Amino acid sequence: MNELENISSPVYREQLIRLGKKYGTPLYIYDSFKIEKQYIKMKNAFSGVKCFRINYACKANTNLNVLKFLQKLGSGLDTVSIQEVELGLKAGFPAKHIIFTPNCVSIQEIKKAVSFGVRINIDNLSILEQFGEDHTDYPVGIRINPHIMAGGNSKISVGHVDSKFGISYYQIPHMKKILKNTGLKIEGFHMHTGSDIHDVESFLQGAKVLFKIALDFPYIDYIDFGSGFKVPYRKNDIKTDLTYLSHSMTEKFKDFCKEYGKTVTLIFEPGKFLVSESGYFLVSVNVVKQTPSTVFAGVDSGFNHFLRPMFYDAYHCIENISNPNGRFRFYTVVGYICESDTFGLNRKISEIREGDFLCIKNAGAYCFSMSSNYNSRYRPSEVMILKGKDFLIRKRETMQDLLRNIVEIQI
Ligand SMILES: *Cc1c(COP(=O)(O)O)cnc(C)c1O
Repeated sequence: MNELENISSPVYREQLIRLGKKYGTPLYIYDSFKIEKQYIKMKNAFSGVKCFRINYACKANTNLNVLKFLQKLGSGLDTVSIQEVELGLKAGFPAKHIIFTPNCVSIQEIKKAVSFGVRINIDNLSILEQFGEDHTDYPVGIRINPHIMAGGNSKISVGHVDSKFGISYYQIPHMKKILKNTGLKIEGFHMHTGSDIHDVESFLQGAKVLFKIALDFPYIDYIDFGSGFKVPYRKNDIKTDLTYLSHSMTEKFKDFCKEYGKTVTLIFEPGKFLVSESGYFLVSVNVVKQTPSTVFAGVDSGFNHFLRPMFYDAYHCIENISNPNGRFRFYTVVGYICESDTFGLNRKISEIREGDFLCIKNAGAYCFSMSSNYNSRYRPSEVMILKGKDFLIRKRETMQDLLRNIVEIQI
């Protein structure tokens, strides 16, 4: 499927339909070619930085095969739970290329990550102090809150003053005291200010804050600018201007290294940027239902499988791949869950008939990984396109999966 990246191409559409028939719907499809393309795009953009690393933020999509694919491309991993750390190790990432960046987890969970030998990123002073008491020989990264409002909206912005994430840069004096009292060393600084950041300036502002802090700490190995790269979700949508960002950032990073007197590693940890556009979510239309005000297309899925439109008001393109040449009409595409679960409101889509396959785009990031069994529905299967072939990479669930952890008692 490689060269057929454009869904408007009839051949690509035919392939998606073939997969829908072969594996059934609802179905997630990931095109590894697209993931590779994004990885290379970012790598090339920062080719001017001597030590540059991409750590895939795996909460976007944790299918083991996606992890293995990115590992093979040379990526590291950004993880936010001990389970993601374990998945990363299982996928073959060396421990030193995994960074554990949790928020509000227990000291026990952090100690477990130490036992796996992965890099630790601490985001509050209480844990820093507890950690320092018995891990003086295990340098850690520090997640800084640079106090920047970035990102699409307040739900996905995490670096502002009211955010629960990171150690405020106003707390640096206290942090220094803790380091002195415990003997703990810092190996890097980190920030992550949100998702869908439109404005390159907020990356640069954050970078400025981190550079200033880092100059006070002579032994660091890396500076990690997190992510928030915006990808387009519709035609003519804004995206992060990678060329502008890489030019300004490369320049500023070089200046920093010169002033710092040492070459440190620049890290980004994109999730969405790498996998969002690789994914397609295929659903079948169960019912076309006319009400006094609306034509609904009811599909065999809901927010149990695909939460972003309902949770973040995210816009995802929806195409009727079974009838691309039909007359365009207005539909509201909804799911089969007993809740309001609208995939797309009042969308212009080529005529929808019952049984048609609809394709929802940008389904590679934060889609399957946020799915649930609500309404006692099975979670969908996943397919990966690799070197032009399709592979089932997750089986559809069954009743056994729903009952797996139930302990039946005498009632
Ligand atoms: C979620 C997350 C990311 C990835 O964000 P995207 O917007 O998907 O690129 C990176 N770093 C951390 C710490 C995260 O929590």
